[in-house]
Amino acid sequence: MDEKFLASISDKSSGEHFSAFPEGYEKGRTKFVIITGSVMSGIGKGIFSSALGKTLQDRNLKVAPIKVEAYLNIDSGTLSPYRHGEVFVLDDGTETDMDLGSYERFLDMELSRDNFTTHGQIYKRIIEKERAGFYQGRDVQYIPHVTGETKMVLRNLAMKSKADIVLIEIGGTVGDYENLFAMESVRELIYEEGAQNCCFVNLTYILEPHHLGEFKSKAAQIGLRQLMGLGLQPDLIVCRSEHPITRTVKEKISMNANVPIERVFNTYDVGNIYELPLFYREQGVDEAILQVLGMEKKFKVNGSRSLRDWTEKNILKPEKEVTIGVAGKYTGTSDTYISIVKALEHCSAVLNAKVNVKWIEATDVENGKSRIEEEMQGVDGVIVPGGFGTRGVEGKIACVKYLRENKVPFLGICYGFQMAVIEFCRSICGVKNANTEEVKKDSENNVICILPEQEEVEGLGGTLRLGGFDIKVKKGTLAYELYGKKDKVRERFRHRFNVNTKFIDLIEKNGMVFSGMAPQKRIMQILELPGHPFFVGTQYHAEFTSRPLKPNPVYLGFVKAALKKKYGK
Ligand code: GLN
Repeated sequence: MDEKFLASISDKSSGEHFSAFPEGYEKGRTKFVIITGSVMSGIGKGIFSSALGKTLQDRNLKVAPIKVEAYLNIDSGTLSPYRHGEVFVLDDGTETDMDLGSYERFLDMELSRDNFTTHGQIYKRIIEKERAGFYQGRDVQYIPHVTGETKMVLRNLAMKSKADIVLIEIGGTVGDYENLFAMESVRELIYEEGAQNCCFVNLTYILEPHHLGEFKSKAAQIGLRQLMGLGLQPDLIVCRSEHPITRTVKEKISMNANVPIERVFNTYDVGNIYELPLFYREQGVDEAILQVLGMEKKFKVNGSRSLRDWTEKNILKPEKEVTIGVAGKYTGTSDTYISIVKALEHCSAVLNAKVNVKWIEATDVENGKSRIEEEMQGVDGVIVPGGFGTRGVEGKIACVKYLRENKVPFLGICYGFQMAVIEFCRSICGVKNANTEEVKKDSENNVICILPEQEEVEGLGGTLRLGGFDIKVKKGTLAYELYGKKDKVRERFRHRFNVNTKFIDLIEKNGMVFSGMAPQKRIMQILELPGHPFFVGTQYHAEFTSRPLKPNPVYLGFVKAALKKKYGK
């Protein structure tokens, strides 16, 4: 076991051989807002937390978000996008839930592993301590050890971030067996920190069955009762619904959950998520939270127009419109490519152009279920996104070929970058059976091969080349122009394979330019094709660093090129 770890657990001062308070912790210095969901998953806790954080920031509060996942995985890296949406990568290489992407984008913050935890991480730490003899004969229990370890993570974030408010989002729904100990941890946290230092929010769902044409709040009531059965009294309830709910519904919820009606809010479908911070502000959500925390006098509403300006700039009345195809293999669930969709939205706001997304299922192209010429009808540019494995690869390569030959703007992301290299090698460089080692083992024509540093790696969890790395950008290239003539930029990666160095000269001789590479290693990171309106691939995920009103430069260049294709300027 490493020495740093042993040193970190050497404090055996408490009778439980454990303390849930970091050294020097000051109770009340940071307050906590806890966000949970009832009735069902998928009601937008992540978006709510992010938008709420934005309204708090607008009052000059320093916020630090954290997502507590109840699953046993150590991180989100090994989860299928079908089950859990996109895997978002932080600059420090942590592979997280896509909600961290929402936090980063709304709050314009760079987050780290301190902002994300899972029960898997918590149990792992406890079991390692147990094996190291830390508990000294004490039996290791869910309470106090699992709850204590969870509280420790939350308090550590409070101390490290020096935030005014830590926003805690508990994954899952009230009533899950899974998150029971996360719920119990926050119950204890509230008790120990004091009610005045915590605000417990429950986001619930009000049903509106079509055959009845009226609101039904019973499911929400049951959810709230279940929550109270865990000893958790909400301070604030946010009812999610499709349409605005009636006062009668709010009254029922208020009465059933001991929450004054002024603290029962409603969030219904709005046209655009960028409206949400202002929407919550206008309803008084942030004011009510600060009242619970006794902070409303100190942190008054920012008198400037900043929040309104942010909203208005993000929601323009677009004059133009383009259609961008996304040729992936998980196109059934748009959550898989959520950061790509968001990056396109950021471009949309800045360019005053509506961006429609057309999903192109690469597997269908591959097995002939759909015809590429038809798929490309009315499309002004295509993104071939990241991915893993064999399925869909040939479909993606066929798309790249079409885009290159027909001079349609192309942006290849990670696996998409690798597909562009394979296609170019097959069609232009005469490497007929060019492929990637990921698909075809032991072929001498693998123009994409394993990264040297990955050869010895064992296991799949957290072992890819992950996180932010610098990219040296070649002067005089399109990439150099896109990045505003910077010769060094930083972007986020998540890959195991890269361009085989044996083929670099051949590829460049045939006209493809590697315009970005790792500063010290021969890892190709950006490619482009001169003479094509826009043919760019990035070995990194440019979408992870795109923010509202600050789109990623590569995406911006790509959407501009799509607009040019359609409107000629
Ligand atoms: N499967 C490829 C690799 O591991 C690409 C990964 C990705 O698209 N994120 O290198």
